[in-house]
Amino acid sequence: MVEDIIIDIVGSFADGKTTLVKAMTRETTLRHSEEIKRGITIRLGYAHFIVYRCGSCGRYSRTEKCEYCNGASSPHYRVSIIDSPGHKTLMTIMLSGASLVDGAVLVIAANQPCPQPQTQEHLEALKIIGIKNMVVAQTKVDVVGEQRARQSYSEIKSFLSQNGLHDVPIIPVFSIQDINIGELIQWIGRFKIEKADRGNQTEMVAIRSFDINKPGADIKKMNGAVLGGALKQGTMSKGDSVTVYPGVFIKNSWKPLNTKIASIQSEFGEESRVGPGLMVGVRTMLDPSLSRRDNLAGSLVVGTDSKPLFKNKISIEYSALEEKEKQKFKRPIQRNESVLVNVLASKVLGTVTSVNGRKVTIFLNNSFLPYFLGDKAIISRKVDNIWVLAGAGTIYD
Ligand code: ZN
Repeated sequence: MVEDIIIDIVGSFADGKTTLVKAMTRETTLRHSEEIKRGITIRLGYAHFIVYRCGSCGRYSRTEKCEYCNGASSPHYRVSIIDSPGHKTLMTIMLSGASLVDGAVLVIAANQPCPQPQTQEHLEALKIIGIKNMVVAQTKVDVVGEQRARQSYSEIKSFLSQNGLHDVPIIPVFSIQDINIGELIQWIGRFKIEKADRGNQTEMVAIRSFDINKPGADIKKMNGAVLGGALKQGTMSKGDSVTVYPGVFIKNSWKPLNTKIASIQSEFGEESRVGPGLMVGVRTMLDPSLSRRDNLAGSLVVGTDSKPLFKNKISIEYSALEEKEKQKFKRPIQRNESVLVNVLASKVLGTVTSVNGRKVTIFLNNSFLPYFLGDKAIISRKVDNIWVLAGAGTIYD
């Protein structure tokens, strides 16, 4: 059975990320629904494609006919690719949505010394959110000589080892000539996903929101607010009743919004029922003006079977990025320190009110966060007026 996975492609444009993604998704002959053809795209991911598995030789291809033995292949993974840093919100989701992303392709160019500071930061983020499925694509091997290509390979290898990632494969690729892209696809095909570990309660994280109506549209034919994002757990079907947190701010307090799912769209087409691993656009019955300009981005959408906590204070079991704490922050997290907190797709400022061993309590000022116990909070601390990724914690209260 085909499964859905979300892959984060990490690297800068200078690393040849765009060309690599074009090569990975080639011959994607997916027919979009009428809705998308009319230009009402949901603009969620970066790219998408299907990985097929060959019935004869067991290898993975980007086409229905095996690229290696011509054998008949069947869909194995429907892959949504999101990019980091790229869209700022997507970086947030990468940091916070531990269980939204299933794997990562780390793009490292051979023509630059490794690691670049940004690459180090990205790897730390991937480690913090606990991504186990990882592969490195070594790009630009075609623009450097063989000697530099080999040297770059050793640099990447020791960079991974220093970070405790001894088994992450490094695949040198030449995107334009489609050399070794097939090898990269083999590793993606072998990514192990552990969705069974998740709960059953419906929980979707919205990273975008939009109004898909044309200006001056007939009010009777208006489409409701659309929320774009991915499910963290559970399933969602057309017709389901859901609640959107935090909702709207009325008379000094937040009022969550109750609505129904009118339709679900992915980059692969119309969907009747979806689970985690897929970037989706969910059309609700809510007033479309609520969703304009990403107004509902950061929302948590839950089914009627679950009720998140909704408070302006969290307590976490905190783990710092130790090396960084020594080198950059000079001292552990302190009482009264200002911190930036990421939970799911929300990002809010807070003040540390107590530190007791690994137990840290943070007051979120006037912001209320919807969350479940066990969710992960990512903490950034300030160094020279810049927010720097400092650690993460599991929310216990
Ligand atoms: Zn085959």
